[in-house]
Amino acid sequence: MDSERIQRAVTELLLAIGEDPSRPGLARTPERVAEACEEFFGGLHEDPLALLADSIPVGGGGPSEAVVVRDISFRSICEHHLLPFLGVAHIAYLPSDRIVGLGRLPRVVDTLASRPQLQERLTEEIADTLERGLDARGVLVVLDAVHGCVAARGSRQEAASTLTLASRGELSDPVRRAEIMSLLGRSGPAHD
Ligand code: ZN
Repeated sequence: MDSERIQRAVTELLLAIGEDPSRPGLARTPERVAEACEEFFGGLHEDPLALLADSIPVGGGGPSEAVVVRDISFRSICEHHLLPFLGVAHIAYLPSDRIVGLGRLPRVVDTLASRPQLQERLTEEIADTLERGLDARGVLVVLDAVHGCVAARGSRQEAASTLTLASRGELSDPVRRAEIMSLLGRSGPAHD
């Protein structure tokens, strides 16, 4: 990432809104924003499939029931406004003959979230990564997030959260999907 270039752009933005980039409160702002960008967009050139490369083979066709991990916190940056959206991801997958260390799922989410994103696309990308990376028989991904661009500007709906869902394979079946959704029900900080 070109930190110098980000810093020049931030200085330019501050000038454009009529601020004085040299006043004490703003003097280090370009540098801070550049550091934040490293974090926000650090997943841009990382391959989330690599995180699943050492999945663990299990015999006998694997567990027949879904593995469900809920309330994985994530933050991403909306590509339309470059404002953060924050929330939780719930993930379910039906293993074929491989499972993955549970700690890998939050890392898959984080890698894909650390890019300029849309919540809808992020949801689909997580589902595709798990389907391909684990050869899963089914995947269900639900994201529940509050968007800076909705909460802080425009209609200023601070309490509005956006729910998106992507399903693959056997978990696209309405009955199986409903079963998982009921497991996820009443979960998550957004609902407690
Ligand atoms: Zn936005």
